[in-house]
Order: sequence, then structure tokens, then C-alpha cells
Amino acid sequence: MYLVGKINVISALPEEFKRLSDIAYNLWWSWNPEAIDLYREIDLELWEKLGKNPVRFLQEVSQKKLQARLEDKDYMSRLHNVVAAFDSYMSEKDTWFSINHPESNGKRIAYFSAEYGLNEVLPIYSGGLGVLSGDHCKSASDLGLPFTAIGLFYKQGYFSQRINIDGWQETSFNNLNISQLPILPALNSNGEQAEINITFAGRTVYAKVWKVQIGRINLYLMDTDVSKNNPSDIALTSRLYGGDHETRIQQEIFLGIGGIRVLDALDIHPTVYHMNEGHSSFMGLELIRKLINEKHLTFKEAKQIVSNSAIFTTHTPVPAGNDTFPLYMMDKYFGDFWGQLGLSRYDFLELGLKNPEDQNFNMTVLALTLAGRKNGVSKLHGAVSRDIFGDVWPGVPQDDVPITHVTNGIHTLTWLSPKIKELYDKYLDSGWKTRIYSASTFEAVDNIPSGELWNTHLELKHKLIGFVRDRLKAQKLANGESMEAVRQVDTFLDPNALTIGFARRFATYKRANLIFRNLARIQNILNNPEKPVQIIFAGKAHPADGPAHDVIKNINDIARQEGFYGKVILLENYNMTVARNLVQGVDIWMNNPRRPLEASGTSGQKVCINGIINFSILDGWWCEGYNGENGWVIGDETEFDNENSQDNIDSESIYDTLEGKIVPLFYKVNEKGIPEEWIRIMKNSIKSLAWNYSTDRMVKEYTERMYLPAMTGASKLLEDNCNTARSFSSFEEHMKNNWAQVQLMADKNHNDLKDYRSNSGQEINLWVNAQLGAIDPANIMVELYYGTLENGKIANAQAVEMNCTEKLADSLYRYSLNLRIEDGGEYAYTFRATPKHPDMINRFDMGLIRWVM
Ligand SMILES: *Cc1c(COP(=O)(O)O)cnc(C)c1O
Repeated sequence: MYLVGKINVISALPEEFKRLSDIAYNLWWSWNPEAIDLYREIDLELWEKLGKNPVRFLQEVSQKKLQARLEDKDYMSRLHNVVAAFDSYMSEKDTWFSINHPESNGKRIAYFSAEYGLNEVLPIYSGGLGVLSGDHCKSASDLGLPFTAIGLFYKQGYFSQRINIDGWQETSFNNLNISQLPILPALNSNGEQAEINITFAGRTVYAKVWKVQIGRINLYLMDTDVSKNNPSDIALTSRLYGGDHETRIQQEIFLGIGGIRVLDALDIHPTVYHMNEGHSSFMGLELIRKLINEKHLTFKEAKQIVSNSAIFTTHTPVPAGNDTFPLYMMDKYFGDFWGQLGLSRYDFLELGLKNPEDQNFNMTVLALTLAGRKNGVSKLHGAVSRDIFGDVWPGVPQDDVPITHVTNGIHTLTWLSPKIKELYDKYLDSGWKTRIYSASTFEAVDNIPSGELWNTHLELKHKLIGFVRDRLKAQKLANGESMEAVRQVDTFLDPNALTIGFARRFATYKRANLIFRNLARIQNILNNPEKPVQIIFAGKAHPADGPAHDVIKNINDIARQEGFYGKVILLENYNMTVARNLVQGVDIWMNNPRRPLEASGTSGQKVCINGIINFSILDGWWCEGYNGENGWVIGDETEFDNENSQDNIDSESIYDTLEGKIVPLFYKVNEKGIPEEWIRIMKNSIKSLAWNYSTDRMVKEYTERMYLPAMTGASKLLEDNCNTARSFSSFEEHMKNNWAQVQLMADKNHNDLKDYRSNSGQEINLWVNAQLGAIDPANIMVELYYGTLENGKIANAQAVEMNCTEKLADSLYRYSLNLRIEDGGEYAYTFRATPKHPDMINRFDMGLIRWVM
């Protein structure tokens, strides 16, 4: 048949439903189940068919169905309540931020990320990083932060995954239709869609700007699908992590440099800039370029301002995982840029080199160099980052490397099952949703009767099993399997069996098939007739990661074997929909990465709020979340060099813990069939973890420890026509020029601890002489650096500032300290000097440190 043309008819909405359309364009609906209910109840079938997308749903819903709702009193009253709740949320003046930080009124935070996982209708995320960014934005909205997010619009999103009949992953991309998404043009002050451009590699590339409303905050997305671009540039932002290295650098130029231009085009002027992972680090260069241009500063002056405003969060625990670009590519794209910064090629490239011989420009190193405040995403990951990036601060002990940590969290209302939410609404204090970050909020979980919690959990487990079976049937139909095989799916998964969930990206370090290392043993565990166990897997492999595809294939093959069939399930196309069902419906959540490669992990945080219990390696967030009574661990903190031994030991630990602890406890029920002891652990898990691993706690922590100090620091440097920045920069210059003269000289005879016996608590007088050359003592911090003596080295080190007590000669000073050590033991000490200045963010960033000779 020849199709002459296409006609799009958009439903005319009765007046009463117009507000539902406003709400459809604000992702607020995605974490408010009462709002979602309003759409789905109009026409459940259409709602599901259109992918639970309110914008598209309202475009296509039938007039008849809308009319029917108009006559439904209960529906209309709920509609009014939802609209009132939305309006009151949007106009709320007393937010956590406005109440606690009124002094920061008028200042703004800009947040940059390559991906955002906000909801499945907007598939511009690949995995954990994106979901974290999405959850960060939602909490920024809930807490009332003055916050603007920046990203790219990938009109083909991230790939969809199919697993074919042989168990191999196949990938495909679909074009998204903007008119059917909760996306609007971002308008500039002339009322036109904002557009920016960037000139690189001899051409100018344009991008238009879209707006996504996330509660009270906006996310702006750049899209190079602009007709004046050449065809390859039009496709530049089509796919998330889709192209080659050239595409990647161009996308990152847009994200970083373009992002700053978007803010300008929309007349938004942030004080603080947060780079979520290194993809956006070029942002710092553009900020410096602008300051040089607009305020006539030198590179160093401008860099000092940027350092104060910029925050960098690293997510990668392995050096090879960082984004890098070969130097010839930097020449190609930045050949015109470094001159604008007043830098030579060498000085420019050095900003991103891990060491001077490096042939790759490293985006993480650039971010670490430019951002004054830096963090990893769990306590352990902070320590790992200080180790792997220690080279960037030569001479600085690892513990002093200025990378701290802010542990990740999840947006509670996004991942919380509406059924469990009803229980919280009933048993927690009213207003609990505005105090999610507080431990006391969840204490009343103890008041939920065990039976009620358990029955709600079982209801969610049934729902999950229905969801999994439907998906599996569709999966098998698409693979052309027999009707018999499709029908059999209804016998898969026993609603009474202990159900393990495992879903995440299939990167090999996550060891998805570790539990199958000893097939006979796991087969026994799964097939215990009184105490059966089953496992549901899901996850995508990076298209270029061959070994990860083998893991998928391996699990698929096992799932087809006798003894595993119907008990081991591999679901395709892991995304936020699949994730939501899994994290609300399994019994335990297993995570067995090779430690310490899981920077944080967040899926385990999604399960705990739903009463599901974690069973994980002591890596990432679980290393600090586990308290002995809120879940189980796999292995211990030992790390083996030999991967094979590590895998053996960890898999044995999985079997032993399942057989010895988890399975017996799950099946130990009282006379009413309720596993009281299990429920105790569920409650412990909620109480100890729900608040701490929420993005509300996380965003609050970023605000207090990073955003607010950055606001103060950056504002101060900009004041008075940047005079403070200028004077700081001359201070830095002065210190660098004269540092070579600084020397510390200890009197070995006086300060020798080998013969020095001190009683606990007794004061020991220690001193060191400092030759300062042209440097004023006010600009130097001399410290005693001491700790226990272990293997000839100082361990558990502490640094204590010493007082300048005597001027011995011209530019020669004595620094002293009375040290008192309470605990007995063998100690060692030394002295060091670093620059000191009130406007310094941290004293190691200048790269000046002198230890005693
Ligand atoms: C939460 C989430 C992740 C991250 O899970 P990890 O346990 O951190 O690997 C990845 N993908 C999706 C779809 C998610 O919802």
C-alpha cells in the first residue's frame, strides 16, 4: 500500500485536564505515584502501550475515556488533590535550603553530567552514573537548591539490548520523538529557542537547547540536530557513548564548553560549577577563557577563581577507566584555544597530563587540576582515588591528597514502591518525606507490624514475578521459540522461593556469573526441595567489551540447563523500568564485584528502602553501610593479587553464607507463616540505611561541604573587581619563585626519639629551624608530622601546626611544639612546611611542600 501522507491528531483536552498536561511536562510526576495513577486510570492499556509516558498519553487518549473520568467524583477529587500538591510543591518558599542558608540567596549551582537517568521515558542514560545524576537533580529540587543541570540530548539515547536465541547480546537504537517527550524548547530572553555554537577543527557547529523540568529545577540539553550543521555534525549528539574517539571529544567539548555557553544564552549566572565525572572537564577551560576575556585577568588569576567555584566528583576506581585523548587530537581541537588562555601548547597540555611523559590528555587529571574541591563517591573510593591520583600531588602523603568523599545515595521517592510508601505514610511521622536525610525519620519503622510488612513484600514479589514472566514471554516470542516454550514461562519462578536479584552493567569486574563457579554446589542450593532458591539476572554489556558478552552468554546457557531452567532467569534490556521492578520485589540483592572496583554502587541502596536485604562484597557503599545486623557480606576485606584465588574464596563465601545463614533464616517462620527474624533484618536495613544512602543526605552533604564553601570562596575572589584573585595570584607567584630557598633543619641530637623515652601523657618539646629566604613567616605553615612507626614508616599519621617561637637570624626562625602522646608505643616524626594563606582552598594544590632534610 502506498501511504500518501501522515496526519498527527493531538487530543483536545477538556479544561479540567489541562493541568494534567502541565504536570506531564514536569518530571515531578515520576516520583509521585498519585499523579501517575491519574493517567493510568484513564486508560490502562493505552498507558502501558505508550510506555507510561504522560505527554504522549495525553496526545493520544480518547475523548470518550476522558469524559468518563469527568463524571467520576472520586477521580476528580484526587485530580484536584494532585494539582494542589504540585502547585504547593512548586511555590513552596520554606525549603530546606531557604530555611538553612538564606545567606546564599541569589547564588546558583550549575551541575554538568554526560547522562541523566530521570525516568524510562527519557532514555538518555546508560547506567549508574546517569541514575545518580537524575537522583541528584530530584533531591536538589526537593531540598530547594538554586540548581541548574546541563547535559546533551541524545535523540537515539543509549542502546536497547536483545539477547538472541543463542544467548548473545544484540543492540539497537531508536529515534526519540521530541514532541512526545517531556521536553520543551529552552527560550532565551527574546522568546526564541536558545542556540549556541562552538568553533573547532576549522568549522562552527551549532546546537539548540531543550529544557526538561524536574520539579523546581531545570535541566538544559544541547542537541546538534540543527539544519545549518553538516550531516555528520547533526549526528554528533545522537548517541550516548556511541561514537569513536572523535565523536567523544566533540561531545565532551559540547558538554563542557557548550554547557557554559548555554548558561550564558539563557542569562543564568552560577557561582558554583559541579562536574559529575570527567566528561565535562573542558568546562573549567571555558570559564577561565571567559574570565580572561571579560575581566582582563591572567590565566593564573582566572584559574584561582575557577578553582574556588569548581567541584569535581570522580567515579572511576581504575586508572584505565578514565577518559583520555591522544595529544594530536588535542592539537586538532584546541589548537586555537590555548592562545586565548595566554598559554603555550606545553603549559596547556600539562593541565591534563598525569606525568610529563604521558602521551594522552586525561580528563580526570584536568578536572583534578582545575577544581578546588574534589571527591570520590564512597569512603573506600575516596582512599582509592587518593592512591591512584597521588601522582598529581608529588611529595604529598597519600592521606593528604586533597580528594575527599561524599558517598552516593538514591532518590528515595523514585525507587520506593508505592505500597511500601503507604506503610511509611501510615507509621512514620507525617512530613517524613521532607526529612529523609535524618536517621530519626526511619526509627518508627519498628512500629510497622511484621505481618503487614511481610504481606506487602509478598504482594510486590508476586507483581515482580508477573512482570518477569511477561517480559520473558515477549523475549521468547521475539526469538521465535515454540509456543510450548513460551507457555512454560508461566511455571517459571516460585512465589514462595527465596529470590535473589542481580542486575547491573555486565562489566567483567562485577563478576555476574561468580555464583556459578561451582555448578554442582549452586544447583544443590537452588533445588533444595524444602528450601528452594531462584535468581533473576539483568544487565547490558558495553558493545566493545567482548568478555562481558561471554558472561551474558554463559548465564544464558546455564539458565537453559536442567536444574537451572525456570530458576535462573536472564531478563533482557536492563533499564529503569526493569530496575524498579527488581529492587522492589526480590528478597535479597546480591552484588559481588572484585574489590575495590565498585566506586559506590547504588542499586543496593534502592533495595533497602523497600525492605530488601543486601548480600554483598565489602566494596563501595556497602563497606560503610554494613553494620553486622542489616544484611550479609561476601568474603572479607582481603584483596588477592590472584584473581582466580579471589574468585574461589568469594564464591565459597557465597555458598557458605547462603547455606548457613540466609536460606535457613528465610524459611524459619512462626506459626502464622511469618519469618520474624528475617523481618528484623529487613527493618534493621531500612532503619540504618534508608536515610544515609538517600540523595537527600548526599545533596545536603554536597551543599554543606562543597557548594556553600565554594560560593563563599568564589564570591570573595570576584569581589572588588577581582582584586582578591589578583592579590592571591601574586602571592602564589611569590611563593613559587622563592620556594627553593625554604629549608627545614632539625637538630637531630635534640629531636632523636630513638633514645627518648617518654611516659604516657608527658610533654615532649620538639622544634625545627626554618630558613625562609624571602618568604614571610606569616605565609608558611610548619607542621609536626607524626604517627606510629611501622616497617620503618610513619603510619596513622597526624599533622599538627607548630608555632613560630623565635627569630634566630635574618629569615631564620624556630618553630616549636609541645607534644603529648597518651597511648604507649613506638612513634616516629618529621617536619614539613607548606604555604599558608586564608584564601587557599587546600595547601597542597600549589604543589609546594618541603620536608625536613
Ligand atoms: C541503579 C541503576 C544502576 C546502578 O546500579 P549499580 O548497582 O550501581 O551498578 C544501573 N542501571 C540502572 C538502570 C539502574 O537503575
